[in-house]
Amino acid sequence: MKKKAAPGWAPLEEMVPVEVFKAEVLAWAQRIGVTPKEIHVRPMKRKWASCSSAGRLTFDADLLRQPAEFRAEVIVHELLHLKIPNHGPLFRTLLKAYLAERR
Ligand SMILES: [Zn+2]
Repeated sequence: MKKKAAPGWAPLEEMVPVEVFKAEVLAWAQRIGVTPKEIHVRPMKRKWASCSSAGRLTFDADLLRQPAEFRAEVIVHELLHLKIPNHGPLFRTLLKAYLAERR
C-alpha cells in the first residue's frame, strides 16, 4: 500500500508496541481467514506495507504512531492481498466490508 494514501491525521504521541501491532495483524488474519508466513515491522520509505507472494508481510514502522483506524485499514488491505493479489472490485468490496464491520 503506497504512502501517498496517507491520511491527514497527526501522528500519535504514543507508539503502539510492535508486539501489540503484530497481535492486531494476527487477529485480523484469523478473521479474514489467511495465514501470513512472516510479519515484519521496519522503516519503509514509499509504502505503508507490502506483501510478498510467499505470504511475507512487511509494515512500515511509522504505522505504530498512526491511529487505530488507519492501522486497521493498512492491515486489512495487506492481508486481503494474501487472498486477492489485485485491487479489483472484489478486493474493494471485501476491504470495505471488513472495515465497516469493525465499527
Ligand atoms: Zn494493495
